[in-house]
Amino acid sequence: MSEANEEQSHWIEEAEQELDEQRVLLKAFCGTLYHYFGGWQKLFEGVRDGRHPGLIRYPLAGLLSAGVLMYLFRLGARRQINYQLRGNPPSQTKFEAWFEVDEVPHGDTLNYAFKRIEPAEVQEVVCQMVETLIRKKVLYRWRVYGNFLLAIDGTGVLTFQSRHCETCMARKLKNGETLYYHPVLEAKLVTANGFAFSLMTEFIENADPQADKQDCELKAFYRLSKRLKARFPHLPICLLLDGLFAGGPTFQLCQEHHWRFMIVLQQADLPQVHRTYDLILSQTSENHKHIRLGRQRRTITLCSMRMSISTYAWVGSRRSTRNIIGSGRSIIATARIVTTL
Ligand SMILES: [Zn+2]
Repeated sequence: MSEANEEQSHWIEEAEQELDEQRVLLKAFCGTLYHYFGGWQKLFEGVRDGRHPGLIRYPLAGLLSAGVLMYLFRLGARRQINYQLRGNPPSQTKFEAWFEVDEVPHGDTLNYAFKRIEPAEVQEVVCQMVETLIRKKVLYRWRVYGNFLLAIDGTGVLTFQSRHCETCMARKLKNGETLYYHPVLEAKLVTANGFAFSLMTEFIENADPQADKQDCELKAFYRLSKRLKARFPHLPICLLLDGLFAGGPTFQLCQEHHWRFMIVLQQADLPQVHRTYDLILSQTSENHKHIRLGRQRRTITLCSMRMSISTYAWVGSRRSTRNIIGSGRSIIATARIVTTL
C-alpha cells in the first residue's frame, strides 16, 4: 500500500471510530432522556409556540432540542448547527427519527422560534427536570443532614464591545474602553461526586434605566431567593455561598426561608466577620480538619503527582460537620467556613 493510501485508510478508520463513539454517547443520552423525562415532546410540552402557524415546518420541541444539543455538544454558535449537526450522520438520523422531519433545522430557524418563546416557560422546564430527579430520589444520597446542596454564584454569559441593548451591564476596562456584558446568577443543585444541576437562573441586568447604581449579584440574589422560595417552598436547602453573601441580610433571609447555609470566607472577605469567627473558633478547637488530597495528572508523555494539604476550619452548630467538609473534589488550600449545618 502506498504511503498516501495508508494515510487515507488510517483517516477513514479514525473517522469511523469517532462515529461509533458518537452513536454510543447519543444512545446513552437518549436512554437517560426517555427514562427520566419521557422524551423531548414531554419535556417541552409546557412551552408555548409563538411562531406564525403558516411558517411552521419543525415542531417546537424539535427546535428546542436542537438548542439543547447545541450547548451539550459545545457548538458555540448557531451556525455550527449547520456544519456539525446537519452534516453529521448519527445526529441527523437520530433527529429525523425523533421528530419525523427530513433534516436538522437551520440555525436561523432556531433563532426565529426562540425569539418568540417566554423565558419563564423554559425556566420552568429546567425546574421540573430537577424536581423529577428529586421526586425519583436520584439525588437523595447527596443530601447533607437531609438538605440538598445549592451552590449560588454569578457567571458571565455574553460580552460585547459596544452597547447591545438597554439593560447591558457596563464596566470600564484598564485600557479606557467600556465592556458591555450580560452575567447571570445561577442556583445549581450540586453533588459531592461533581454533578451540578441548574435549578434557577436570575439575569443580572439594568432593568431600570433611571437607577443611579447598576444591578449586582447581591441584588440578584434577593430576587432569586424570592423566586426560589415561591417555586420550591418545602425543599430542604443548604445554600453554598462565597464571602460576598456573608452579611446580616443573607443570614436573616435564610432564617426566614428555613434554609441552611455554608459560606466560604476568603482572607480578604469581611474583617468584622473574621474577627467574630476567630473568637468563636478559638473556643471550639475541635472544629478543624486537615485533609491530604492527591491528584494524578497525566499527559501523553508525562505523569506527575501533585499533593496538597487542605486545612478546613468552621464555625457552626454541629460537631459532625467535620464528616462532610472536604468531601468534594476540588483542592482548596485553606477554607474558613461559616455554616448553620
Ligand atoms: Zn445588552
